[in-house]
Amino acid sequence: MKDRWTLAIHGGAGVKPGRDYSEVVAHMTQLVATGEARLAGGASALDTVEQAVADMEASGLYVAGRGSPPGLDGSVEMDAAIMDGALMRAGAVAVIRDVESPVAAARAVLERTPHVLLAGEGAIRFAHQAGVPPIGKRPDFFRLPVGVQQSEVDVGPDRLGHGTVGAVALDREGRLAAATSTGGIYGKRPGRVGDAPVLGAGTWADDILAASCTGIGEMFILSGGARDVSARMRYGGQPLVEACEAMLAEVARLGGDGGIIAMGADGIPAFAWNSAGLKRAAAGSHLQPMAAI
Ligand code: ASP
Repeated sequence: MKDRWTLAIHGGAGVKPGRDYSEVVAHMTQLVATGEARLAGGASALDTVEQAVADMEASGLYVAGRGSPPGLDGSVEMDAAIMDGALMRAGAVAVIRDVESPVAAARAVLERTPHVLLAGEGAIRFAHQAGVPPIGKRPDFFRLPVGVQQSEVDVGPDRLGHGTVGAVALDREGRLAAATSTGGIYGKRPGRVGDAPVLGAGTWADDILAASCTGIGEMFILSGGARDVSARMRYGGQPLVEACEAMLAEVARLGGDGGIIAMGADGIPAFAWNSAGLKRAAAGSHLQPMAAI
């Protein structure tokens, strides 16, 4: 649908009841206002979701980028993906270290390689060559995200605290795009890959859907995740919200929880979650701006 635009973002489903998330709500409110203005000015959905996710990574308020937790061996490994639904192009990085912006590395994979997913050492070397700034030896780079306590990060993978950031957008040309970036599950095993960089699981965009998921990544991979929502719409004729809820019901059946932000070609965003909350916000040409947990 042309000449309408929307940006929706999420800051993860790892919400703890009773914590103060006012700084997060204020940040998300400002991000969707800035992103919406960019879309109104003709920015592409792809650039807009990358920028929104990069800003969330850089803020350290969420479990992504600067807010990413160390895994069991003390190293911080991150995952990210970005997808252009109009041209069916995507880039993703998994198990990436020493980059300021995993989503920028994912975008470089999309723009500069014939591949869709790079992982580990090769992904790190590629990101540095592509000009994504390294973190280097800055002890103050990583910080504790808002609403997370140190004791919750210092756990084994069986406790499964987690968080992620993501964005979906429709631009004035009718193009859909999605991006997701995460520090993953607290205390994860080295080498663990979640759903965020698995295209179709945590991140997906095509001509009818842009979606970004958050939650226990393993269950989103097993349930089919974001692409399952697109398939339910395309082949089953399910409305967007119903398709999101059906996918999440499968995640729950498998023992997982989390949420999804999604948008169809009409630019109306959908938010669904079966966790305690979902940090979320949206703004667009046909939408009252909103931000909530
Ligand atoms: N889905 C992410 C992962 O499994 C975590 C999250 O969204 O909270 O890595």
